[in-house]
Amino acid sequence: MSMTTESGTFVAPAVRQTGILIGDEWRPAVSGKTFSTINPATEEVICQVAEGDKADVDLAAHAARSAFESGPWSRMDARDRGRLMHKLADLMEANLDELAALETLDNGKPIGDAKAADLPLAIDCIRYYAGWADKITGDTIPVRGDYFCYTRREPVGVCGQIIPWNFPILMTAWKWGPALATGNTIVMKPAEQTPLTCLRLGELALEAGFPPGVINIVPGYGPTAGAAIVKHGLVDKVAFTGSVETGQQIMADAALTLKRITLELGGKSPNIVFADADLDAAIAGAEFGLFFNQGQCCCAGSRLFVEDSIHEEFVERIVDRARQRVLGNPFDAETTQGPQVDKDQFDKILGYIESGNSEGAKCETGGHRHGNRGFFIEPTIFTGVTDEMKISREEIFGPVLSVLKFSSVEEVVKRANNTTFGLAAAVWTSDVKKAHQVSNSLRAGTVWVNCYDVFDAAAPFGGFKMSGIGRECGEAGLMNYTELKTVTMNIG
Ligand code: ADP
Repeated sequence: MSMTTESGTFVAPAVRQTGILIGDEWRPAVSGKTFSTINPATEEVICQVAEGDKADVDLAAHAARSAFESGPWSRMDARDRGRLMHKLADLMEANLDELAALETLDNGKPIGDAKAADLPLAIDCIRYYAGWADKITGDTIPVRGDYFCYTRREPVGVCGQIIPWNFPILMTAWKWGPALATGNTIVMKPAEQTPLTCLRLGELALEAGFPPGVINIVPGYGPTAGAAIVKHGLVDKVAFTGSVETGQQIMADAALTLKRITLELGGKSPNIVFADADLDAAIAGAEFGLFFNQGQCCCAGSRLFVEDSIHEEFVERIVDRARQRVLGNPFDAETTQGPQVDKDQFDKILGYIESGNSEGAKCETGGHRHGNRGFFIEPTIFTGVTDEMKISREEIFGPVLSVLKFSSVEEVVKRANNTTFGLAAAVWTSDVKKAHQVSNSLRAGTVWVNCYDVFDAAAPFGGFKMSGIGRECGEAGLMNYTELKTVTMNIG
């Protein structure tokens, strides 16, 4: 398929899979319905995808349940589970170029980012958790009396996994890695905006040799397919990444069957730059921390607090950098910023820009749509932002940076924490004491010091407060996919 964008033509990767995966079979939806997935750079329809709903989720949940209870998966040695996961990671690596191109086509992210960030991080995550598969142990417990007491970490069972559109492959890996390592089975729902790479990963998982029913994938919409997963009686756990509002709905729906839940929700992360910081690094970090992935990151450093003595210089230099960002065809190697994922997000972001202007912030650069085709928005920076303005309170999920001025450590910590969110934060300083004091005082699940967006499959990630429940990645992420069983044996 060849397409034309403003900056030229590109050859899109072939779309190989658009069905629903149940067991080892790719099927159309029970209803026969399909939905369109759109290329956000051109606004053209890429293809039709099977639109799963309650009936398809029911089939998927039964397939996952039976694979969990009686299939070869349930009898497989842990080490062999790990080997299958390594095989999947190898297949992802062998198909890296194709997967990256498919991600760029469906999501709009620059191909350079997909190849250098999304794919390597996703592959690393599967390998990291593959290594855990045969290392999940319990404890022996010294209880009173003639008893031998020990604990076992057992799989939770069938895991419903619902992911957003900003990092489709990476979010799939974050969900599958810990679930598979611990022996669970999966009913997955990719976001309706970006289903294609998850479906392709489903094909690769079958090629790797995962038994039928271990991974089931139901593309479709949230209130239908997503809600059906959350409410299904055969599903034991739901892992969700997305908006706070949907997280609240999921928590309420999951209460009906008392499912285990992990939620990774939104953020309004403070990025704090002290005057004693390495300014070159802090400016580059502030740009990357907000504009990476078109600003569509739950941990985006969207509240940039700059100490007053360097404020003027900092603003001048970051505005300059923002203007140098290259917007355009995400398949062009030099593009650093692609389109927003869809029209809804595009309109919502432009609405926030309007609110920044009307509430009295100063738009230093950007503020408009870029071009007239595709959902591109200029890199936008507001100064003179106050804590009360909508743009400094609500998650924008776009390329819009708010710069706030501060003058003391106490003041900035208080203001940084004055939010319902608590996902991430960053501190830039050359004073090691200040770095520790501030990072200890910030109410956030992740604090980066003199860096931003440094992710590793081994490092736990998740939110304080309304940014979520539970952690992903690392050992903490793994534990969320296990039940703890205590066995007490009479040996007297
Ligand atoms: P966004 O607003 O960024 O699209 P959402 O939280 O709405 O974020 O979507 C994230 C994921 O949650 C998507 O896969 C979406 O289909 C799904 N989803 C949306 N609403 C529901 C719901 N009520 N129940 C379960 N999943 C949902």
